[in-house]
Amino acid sequence: MNYEITGHTGLTALLGSPVSHSISPQMHNRAFRELGLDYVYLAFDVTPHQLKEAFLGLKSIGIRGFNLTMPLKTAILPYLDGLTPAARLAGAVNTVYREGDSFIGHTTDGIGYMQSVSDAGYEILGQKMTLLGAGGAATAICVQAALDGVAAIDVFKRKNSTFSSASAFFQKVAEETGCTIRLFDLADTRRLAESIGESAILTNATSVGMAPDLEQSVLPDASLLHPDLIVSDIIYNPRQTRLLSQAAEMGCRTLNGLYMLLFQGAAAFRCWTGQKMPVELIRECYFTETDKKRKDHTP
Ligand code: NAP
Repeated sequence: MNYEITGHTGLTALLGSPVSHSISPQMHNRAFRELGLDYVYLAFDVTPHQLKEAFLGLKSIGIRGFNLTMPLKTAILPYLDGLTPAARLAGAVNTVYREGDSFIGHTTDGIGYMQSVSDAGYEILGQKMTLLGAGGAATAICVQAALDGVAAIDVFKRKNSTFSSASAFFQKVAEETGCTIRLFDLADTRRLAESIGESAILTNATSVGMAPDLEQSVLPDASLLHPDLIVSDIIYNPRQTRLLSQAAEMGCRTLNGLYMLLFQGAAAFRCWTGQKMPVELIRECYFTETDKKRKDHTP
């Protein structure tokens, strides 16, 4: 493979803090090389305080597009010229692409999640989802699942200071998508049992179970699971969370967050290049289940 950075090379990037251990530069640069695309992808450590200056600088030198990770997914909103329907509904952006001179914000986290579910061979459209958590990833998943045609989504989160704003958010998504979305207290075990009993998929989008808290599960009782259920945890470090172990013991089909990460990147790649990322190659290079070397994958 002959690849040189030239005077024509288009810049794409990841902005966030921290970003140094992100897998995205390898993923995108390998895909650019494979397809012979004259682009490069670099990671820049940018705090919210530095974002305006960084964005205006990158814009003035003609950046082709970029990803945003924590803590910049909402901080970028005031600087953009437009939002896709999914980004507008989610109120967050992880991908920015250009349309002429305009910079458009998009979110590919939900797309990546839904793609990972279908890639695993699981059919959930027209069925019910129980979604645990209401943070950035959960809201993106909820929006995309509703847009794609999941019939109903029950969201469970802790009843804390963000509960009423979360409730207003999900009500707005329900009104705009026509999907039935209800928000419940995560401590309401009776409702949780009822919802899981009616669902095709249970999705953990909280951070409970993420390394180093390997023994924690967000589920109060494994007997709430049933063998017809798909149990999905968007955590990818570790690959097998306590929740996924509980699910496997109950005979459920399971899915971790690794390929959500791959497919959200593939969707961003398509926005910038108009081309399909060679996902099988990238999966083989950077996303094998047995890859023990990587301790963390910031998108
Ligand atoms: P976030 O915005 O901080 O949201 C975290 C969520 O977890 C909130 O809903 C929070 O509940 C809930 N939570 C935290 N501790 C809890 C506890 N002890 N009990 C119950 N709920 C708890 O984070 P995020 O960006 O959505 O990320 C969430 C997880 O998804 C992380 O583990 C992250 O690594 C993973 N993720 C994976 C991918 C991927 O590509 N696979 C992409 C993005 C994120 P409250 O609302 O009550 O505070």
